[in-house]
Amino acid sequence: MKPMLIGGEWRTDADDVIVSVNPADGRTNHEVAAAGVRHVGAAVEAAAAAAGAWRDMLPHKRARVLAKIADGIEARSEQFARLQMIENGKVLAECRTQAASAAATFRYYAAVCETLGDDVNPARGPYLSMTLHEPYGVVAAITPWNSPLTMEAQKVAPALAAGNAVILKPSEVTPSGAIALGEVALEAGLPPGLLSILPGTGAVAGDALVRHPGVKCVSFTGGTGSGRRIAAIAAEKLMPVALELGGKSPHIVFADADIDAAVASVADGIFEGTGQSCVAGSRLFVERRIHDRVLALVAERARRLRLDLPDAPGAQVGPLATFAHRVRVEQCIETARAEGGRIVAGGGRPGDAHLAAGAFCLPTVVAGLTNDATVCRQEIFGPVLCVLPFDDEDDLVRQSNDSVYGLAAGLWTADFRRAWRVARRLEAGTVWINTYKQLSIAAPFGGYKDSGLGREKGIGGLRLYQQAKSLYLGLGG
Ligand code: NAD
Repeated sequence: MKPMLIGGEWRTDADDVIVSVNPADGRTNHEVAAAGVRHVGAAVEAAAAAAGAWRDMLPHKRARVLAKIADGIEARSEQFARLQMIENGKVLAECRTQAASAAATFRYYAAVCETLGDDVNPARGPYLSMTLHEPYGVVAAITPWNSPLTMEAQKVAPALAAGNAVILKPSEVTPSGAIALGEVALEAGLPPGLLSILPGTGAVAGDALVRHPGVKCVSFTGGTGSGRRIAAIAAEKLMPVALELGGKSPHIVFADADIDAAVASVADGIFEGTGQSCVAGSRLFVERRIHDRVLALVAERARRLRLDLPDAPGAQVGPLATFAHRVRVEQCIETARAEGGRIVAGGGRPGDAHLAAGAFCLPTVVAGLTNDATVCRQEIFGPVLCVLPFDDEDDLVRQSNDSVYGLAAGLWTADFRRAWRVARRLEAGTVWINTYKQLSIAAPFGGYKDSGLGREKGIGGLRLYQQAKSLYLGLGG
């Protein structure tokens, strides 16, 4: 049984067990010790005990440890990639990219940690005023299953760089990358207690962690419903939270766009990761006069994508992450049909015998609906693209923004003035112009509206885990 990490010790004295199942073939991968309330208590105690010395360590020394963690992830990147692949079914090529990105994130925050200074404020009298940025102490990081390698690095690296101890609760579907990160951190010389890993359920370990009075800040990525529950508890505790939540992102094609490039990007933007991406471009808006042509091209591309076992050479789309999730996605496709949607590609399971035991679902393209259809309102988190026409810029902006979500948006046009105008009017935390899903650790990331609160990544991603303290040093007579 895979253990949890608490205060530098690997423990299997679990109250419950997580059984990890490979979604590509339905076989059991391994069992993992699931943390209960008492483990949360022990991890918080260990974190609080370790946090003081880490906070007082000079930033360039903390940075050295973070850089060693980056090296450790890189040295084991194939292991990280394969652990993620067998647990969530993402194709190996994408898992490898994400393992490399996790290492790069630790390296980036090592650099930020070493170079980010405090502030000197303009004086309005005979004094020197400075603002210092101090860690909260114990931070909880709670992550989902779709891209655990990148998301865990995106939280743990800046929170440690900021001088905190971190307790990471990975998704019950993908606990192994976090456990391996715990190993790497200890090997890199991170003092025990500064990073605890608590695999477990949201209802037990996640909830106990958020409620624990010793946890002073929570960084959460997951569904909007879970985020709301966490925010309610945080409100009671008056505790800061960072929430990265769901999305229903519009991907927009104007008639003057480079259609081939747009179609390729639209297909990648929804089907990469089998649609299990928070920024998946799941609503495709196409200017009416090219709607039918683009619909046909996107559907053709969806049919041609290579759906295969995640480690098959050339595989482009793997299975969904769990069999239960496939049931939900299939229900959404049924709802689309029932509401009058026309399934132009996919719509079911693949016929290939070698995929029959996995949680596969064909890349699916739906046309003939309007933006108020259920599948255009709800996040499906699967390989389902809804294609919708628009008439003009105002109509497009109104439809795009008519969603509770506001995580990302993409638009394709040759007219840079229009690109600028529309990008400024879209209610989304990230807007891509003539590209999609381009992401950088150096750029802030987060959502408008129900897609979240706060911004991770970038230099400000470190400040999420600090509070400001202003000092005045009197210089008068
Ligand atoms: P989820 O909300 O069910 O779970 C996410 C994590 O939170 C898991 O570790 C889970 O155990 C834990 N959790 C669940 N309920 C909790 C509670 N009440 N208290 C504490 N912890 C709790 O989400 P999921 O199904 O794992 O992931 C899919 C969702 O994540 C999608 O909605 C997707 O859009 C979103 N997501 C958002 C981003 C982003 O950056 N905005 C990135 C990836 C995924």
